[in-house]
Amino acid sequence: MRHFSRAAYLISGALILTTILWIAGRIEVGFGPELWPWLAPSQIAMLLSFTCAALALLAVVRAQALEPLFGGLDQGIRIHRRLGLWAFLLMIAHVVLLLLDALSKGISAGVILVPFWSDEARTIDILAFYILIGLGLFAYERRMRHERWLALHRLIGLLFLIGTAHAAMEQSTIRSYEPLRIWIIILLLAGAASWFYRVFLFNTFGPRYRYGVEHATTRGSDVVDLVLRPIDRRMMYQPGTFAFVRTPTLSAHRRELHPFSISSSPVERDLRFSVRQVGDFTRALPSLAKGDEVEIFGPFGGFTPLRFAPYRRMVWIGAGIGITPFLGMLNFEVSNRDFRRIWFYYITRTPEDAVYDEEIRARFLKADSLIDYTQWTTADRGRLSAARIAEDIGLDDYAVMLCGSSAFVDDMAAQFHRLGVPHQRIILEELQFR
Ligand SMILES: Cc1cc2nc3c(=O)[nH]c(=O)nc-3n(C[C@H](O)[C@H](O)[C@H](O)COP(=O)(O)OP(=O)(O)OC[C@H]3O[C@@H](n4cnc5c(N)ncnc54)[C@H](O)[C@@H]3O)c2cc1C
Repeated sequence: MRHFSRAAYLISGALILTTILWIAGRIEVGFGPELWPWLAPSQIAMLLSFTCAALALLAVVRAQALEPLFGGLDQGIRIHRRLGLWAFLLMIAHVVLLLLDALSKGISAGVILVPFWSDEARTIDILAFYILIGLGLFAYERRMRHERWLALHRLIGLLFLIGTAHAAMEQSTIRSYEPLRIWIIILLLAGAASWFYRVFLFNTFGPRYRYGVEHATTRGSDVVDLVLRPIDRRMMYQPGTFAFVRTPTLSAHRRELHPFSISSSPVERDLRFSVRQVGDFTRALPSLAKGDEVEIFGPFGGFTPLRFAPYRRMVWIGAGIGITPFLGMLNFEVSNRDFRRIWFYYITRTPEDAVYDEEIRARFLKADSLIDYTQWTTADRGRLSAARIAEDIGLDDYAVMLCGSSAFVDDMAAQFHRLGVPHQRIILEELQFR
């Protein structure tokens, strides 16, 4: 997949450049004996950690112009998670190496690990390190309310930028070698601008469309169809993408932005989101009245068959509410003159949970593409496996689009990969950012 390689090129290119510039800097300044065996790797670890952190911020900037770099915002979030983890691990490696360096030179561990230990201790850096570790652990906290988690999570980016920039600037290599200094400043500006745009500017300057509520109708026990009509501009989008929804009239939630896949077709005037009620915001949606204004920010994401034009045989698998992007894609297929062969699976626990089954059955035969549709209920048929799907298809040159919870998507992707489907033919969308 082209955009995956773009992200891979960008990340590996940035990491290699950082390392080369450090080596070039040391060649100019000199590789003194004090650098070995611990101090040199410790410096590199910190610079690489900072590079990862700056790129992690860039990956989730929510700027449509940058989406192709990372393969869409949804892929950007996955990349952000990995880069964020690497930034933390490298930062810890930096401190461990510094500690080993101090011990090898007979300096007390307290100078490296304990704030206010002595005049030599870099108290601000040590405190920033512990705060970052604490905040980093919060990134994996699943029970905290999303808005609180997000506020804490945003602090990580800010502290990382300030802390690492401060620590890095004190390093003699950066101070004395201008190309490395300029590169670090570029990374710092990219990271800081991404953070500032996302936290302060997105709500005002992001791609925003005003819509009015047509209706918010309940389907089954816990799903709501939110149907919206444009007030002025209509948002154009690719089927399968998602947008952030803000509801200024729900006062308890008026500042929140919630991502939802679009379940209508771009050829339709009305925009539809199909929402499973899981928490306070989604449960409040049915109280929206006709005409209430809703702000839509988007579209975002790379989960759209239009981006994968060469793949003519596709498997679409939506589990539970993970069916939503496929509803938009199927609705679009009805008017899309772009023949493909598609095997479409809608997985739910029981038949009653399959609230979009009727809609899909009414449409899939009308599509220009040839679609085989299966509604799979796990309560009576057990889990659907990749091996079973491969048997249905019979051929091996197909691409798979998967949408659902992270656990489902990861498990299915691993199964298809074990069957020999290459990574670039497995296209994922998780319905969660955390
Ligand atoms: C790309 C993407 C597409 C999605 N598409 C759909 C969809 O089509 N239909 C659907 O029902 N759900 C979808 N979701 C999930 C949906 O965003 C959450 O269920 C919703 O935001 C929960 O809000 P809540 O306050 O009701 O629940 P809460 O109880 O507050 O949260 C439940 C879960 O949703 C996550 N969440 C809560 N608020 C946000 C937020 N502002 N931003 C991101 N995640 C949040 C939480 O981390 C938690 O895991 C999608 C999520 C993503 C990331």
